[in-house]
Amino acid sequence: MAFNTDVIEAIGNTPLIKLKRASELTGCTILGKAEFMNPGQSVKDRAGKWMILEAEKRGDLKPGGLVVESTAGNTGIGLAVVASARGYRTIIVIPDTQSKEKKDFLRLCGAELIESPQLPYSNPNNYQHVGRRLADQLRKTEPNGVLFADQWNNLDNAKAHYESTGPEIWQQTGGKIDGFICSVGTGGTLAGASRYLKEKNKDIVTACADPHGFAMYELFKNGQAKSTPGDSITEGIGLGRVTPVVETAKVDTAFLVSDEEAVTVIYELLEHEGLCLGGSTGVNIAGAIQLAKQLGPGKTIVTILADSGSRYLSKLFNPEFMRSKNLPAPEWLEKRSKIQL
Ligand code: PMP
Repeated sequence: MAFNTDVIEAIGNTPLIKLKRASELTGCTILGKAEFMNPGQSVKDRAGKWMILEAEKRGDLKPGGLVVESTAGNTGIGLAVVASARGYRTIIVIPDTQSKEKKDFLRLCGAELIESPQLPYSNPNNYQHVGRRLADQLRKTEPNGVLFADQWNNLDNAKAHYESTGPEIWQQTGGKIDGFICSVGTGGTLAGASRYLKEKNKDIVTACADPHGFAMYELFKNGQAKSTPGDSITEGIGLGRVTPVVETAKVDTAFLVSDEEAVTVIYELLEHEGLCLGGSTGVNIAGAIQLAKQLGPGKTIVTILADSGSRYLSKLFNPEFMRSKNLPAPEWLEKRSKIQL
């Protein structure tokens, strides 16, 4: 018999899927790491697993303890999945702009949700500061202690990808990989995977795909964290400052991806390849296409299929929402999205 002893063991070891259209378009082999197939349906299950298990090893999390985190949603889901399996409670602070599907799923996973207004990081009431203050406050009264997961500063977040995502990609490609690219929320995925792959072969071109309105494009392209103009509907990505996690990345270059490019990729994948994925994955794949064009045909490029499109039915897959953002949506979406409960 072969089985996982619990849900935590079922995190990772996701398939690599060839992205047909992106590959045909560029003459390269573009592969997506199917992170939406994790138990919590996103790449952040790995961070949740590592942040909790490493904290246990250090003695920072005791039986019956409480996990607190500020998150755009997916890290919270990853933490809640792992915490349930280990008997911890979770409190999640989330910006109120995030999708209803993510919030509902978090509650369903047993997390207590605190919605916080979307404010810039420089504002003391930004959700990241609210989460930290809440954890400090709760530490005074929680009998079994509090872990503030702190994904932007917690190097266990990047370690998850250094110890799992990177090695899996290396093994699955048999070392035949010329480029790796993904976008940045905390930078955990990019930092951990890029560092591992560069150690294996320094000639692998590692790259960041960034939506408009954030600082990672300028950082990895020109060495200085400076926001590009504009904004983005993509959730879970976009970082405006250099963090301890980002500092550990080994990245050669960067590509800027518009929302229009990203959502077009997502609709085409659903229409022609049976893959229903979230907006950040559109940024990743559009970035992989740009990287492939730069490297030339015949190369193998890996990117991340970060989360499931089912998390964005009310946004990316809702023609009305797309119209309100002046973004293109295919005609078939009108018909297909008339799903009623
Ligand atoms: N895509 C989605 C949908 C996410 O939720 C996140 C994490 N917030 C990322 C990409 C980026 O992952 P990381 O934090 O490892 O940079």
